[in-house]
Amino acid sequence: MQAKRPVVLITGGSRGIGAAIAQLAAARGYDVAITYRSESAAADEVIEICRAAGVEALAFQGDVALEADVLRIFDEVEERLGPISHVVNNAGITGKSGKLAETSAETIQTCIDINVTGAIYVAREAARRLSQSRGGQGGSIINISSVAAVLGSPNEYVWYAASKGAIDSLTVGLARELATEGVRVNAVSPGMTRTDIHERSTQDVGRLQRLLPFIPMKRIGEPQEIAEAVLFLMSDAASYITGAILPVTGGR
Ligand code: NAP
Repeated sequence: MQAKRPVVLITGGSRGIGAAIAQLAAARGYDVAITYRSESAAADEVIEICRAAGVEALAFQGDVALEADVLRIFDEVEERLGPISHVVNNAGITGKSGKLAETSAETIQTCIDINVTGAIYVAREAARRLSQSRGGQGGSIINISSVAAVLGSPNEYVWYAASKGAIDSLTVGLARELATEGVRVNAVSPGMTRTDIHERSTQDVGRLQRLLPFIPMKRIGEPQEIAEAVLFLMSDAASYITGAILPVTGGR
């Protein structure tokens, strides 16, 4: 009889880094659940690629900033794919870039709602379902932070940088809280990575090329390079690693 495949839930898996994580997880033999907020066609494409690797894959619509959506998605994933063993807290936005003094309350609030509150809702639900003392099977949680958490992103989006600082704190605290629960909690902290976020979320056309000189390796990271780090931290090869924040930044 074939062993049950591990099940990974990836928030924001329809595009960019989340899509790359989904595809690599499928290639490594995980059943995959992705969430998306509005781009259902992009989510369907990712699902097709995952299924071509021979695993089960499903997409779920929802806004991570809404507690009810997060709870519903965890329920639906477990109903359709079985118990979740890994969660990747990836969905995130920046908001239109600019100086803080010129930034609207709506831009700040939306970013914090999605990147911080949403990520904490997802992490809480993962803690409830994976913890062995609550009947879970253990597993791991990977939070997607950003090098912005340590650079602070002046003149671009300090509120976004602050939201990722919160992700780093969440990672360290929850790692210690769940250390005896069979659940490892780590973060991957990407640098400049080739996705839509730069032009669509920051609305800053040409950002990647402009910031290239500040990357020691003098190149932009690919989403697949972030995915490799995530899959490593999810794997048994990382069995003694918890509370780590792994920069994948080309040296930035
Ligand atoms: P992206 O290409 O813009 O993709 C964002 C993904 O998140 C999409 O799947 C989107 O769904 C989903 N999403 C957005 N808001 C959501 C919400 N409220 N609820 C549920 N899903 C939502 O972004 P990315 O560059 O891959 O970024 C992924 C993560 O990496 C983010 O946390 C980001 O902060 C972090 N990061 C990125 C970089 C970089 O250079 N790209 C660097 C450091 C950190 P739809 O497709 O439906 O819109």
